[in-house]
Amino acid sequence: METYDALLASITPTTGETRTIFDPATGTAVGHAPVHTVEDLESAIAAARAAQPAWAALGHDARSAALLKAADAVERSAEELAQLLSREQGKPLNGPNARFEVGACAAWLRAAAGTPLEPETVVDDGETRAELHYRPIGVVGAIGPWNWPMMITIWQIAPALRMGNAVVVKPSEYTPLSVLALAKVLNEELPEGLLTVVSGGRDVGARLAEHPAIGKVMFTGSTATGKAIIKSSADTVKSLTLELGGNDAGIVLPDADPKAIAEGLFWGAFINTGQTCAALKRLYVHDSLYEAVCAELTAVAAAMPMGNGLDEANVLGPLQNKAQYDVVARLVDAARGSGARILLGGNPDTEQPGYFYPTTLVADIDNSNPLVAEEQFGPALPIIRYSTVDEAVTMANALDVGLGASVWSSNLDGARKVAARLEAGTVWINKHGAVDPRIPFGGAKQSGYGLEFGVEGLKALGVPQIING
Ligand code: NAD
Repeated sequence: METYDALLASITPTTGETRTIFDPATGTAVGHAPVHTVEDLESAIAAARAAQPAWAALGHDARSAALLKAADAVERSAEELAQLLSREQGKPLNGPNARFEVGACAAWLRAAAGTPLEPETVVDDGETRAELHYRPIGVVGAIGPWNWPMMITIWQIAPALRMGNAVVVKPSEYTPLSVLALAKVLNEELPEGLLTVVSGGRDVGARLAEHPAIGKVMFTGSTATGKAIIKSSADTVKSLTLELGGNDAGIVLPDADPKAIAEGLFWGAFINTGQTCAALKRLYVHDSLYEAVCAELTAVAAAMPMGNGLDEANVLGPLQNKAQYDVVARLVDAARGSGARILLGGNPDTEQPGYFYPTTLVADIDNSNPLVAEEQFGPALPIIRYSTVDEAVTMANALDVGLGASVWSSNLDGARKVAARLEAGTVWINKHGAVDPRIPFGGAKQSGYGLEFGVEGLKALGVPQIING
């Protein structure tokens, strides 16, 4: 694509029903998304079924070559994609935000293309020879959220395509343009029909999850929707990868250095203005350094500019939608009402346009407070005091979700011992939320099941087959 306007025009429908998408920072129109129906879903699935056998027959090397070209196409259109993502999702161009997200799309495509997956010889003893292979599934459904719409779509479709499948994507109703534009760019390098975005509502998502021609659903979103998808996929016994909600705990051990960890804590919690599945959402700090951590974190947080994402100076943006803004406002109000101490923020300017909620830090808060117990998914971090490590571990493990967690310490061995006690899919040490295409990622407990990334992620998009003989 040559310009932002050309990219937007290329995804704007000329016929059929459309819906206006508004910029969460300003309330102005960004563009018009198609309103696809279950009939459109049927057409997309038919096209996918038609395209998939030839794609599968190409083999790993040719498919990987196509994915590398698709990564180049993303890079050619990187700035236009980032502009659209910033306007529609709200995240700033700069910082670990829109340009970073588009860069990650290219990186994850290349990683999916470059990860070797050879048949495994599981037994070869002279009498018996058995090999484990992975066959394509067929057509994969990918259902995604609004917080990292492009990157999460790539996480779902890159391994699916690499493994010889076709994909039908159902993006969030809040961020369809970002996903339509991304697919438009990818399709410059992919065969017709192999990858289609159906920009519909929950009815389309629900039909995708129950459709007999869909062999697997990759889902990222809330735990409640994940449970609905498990139910609707049951009749066709679909394989599922579920990346669901989290409420990640971080534990600052008594030997941590408050100044040294403050910036890492900040970005762990406030990346994408807190709208991140594996963000730090509850911070447990030992008594002995509680006030020091509060002070250092407040100093870092107060210096981070929030505003319109297109302004190059900003690193924090608005909440993406009114419903999420209301969740954050309700939880902070409840915390304040319970007597918790607001260190920073908590005072939104209701006169300004956009869903801006200021960076908020809340201290002296009880572990049972709703701001701690519920997923806030926004820029408001509760900081809970503890006096023994056992107590901190118990509080961290008390919830029924377990996506990520982190331990902050000057002693790596000690931190690893605490990490091993935490019920979470990933535990980071002295950082939080860092993802890497080489390292498997997935949730524990009600944060979901199945792994993405690395060779484990490729295997999840194939049907294991033993050849015995
Ligand atoms: P959501 O569950 O409301 O929606 C996600 C998608 O599911 C949307 O595309 C929606 O249209 C679709 N959907 C809704 N009902 C459906 C149904 N019955 N059947 C099929 N599809 C249906 O989630 P959201 O609000 O967009 O995203 C925020 C949530 O996602 C947070 O809880 C966050 O923690 C979680 N999340 C998790 C990860 C992860 O990797 N674990 C990553 C990002 C977000």
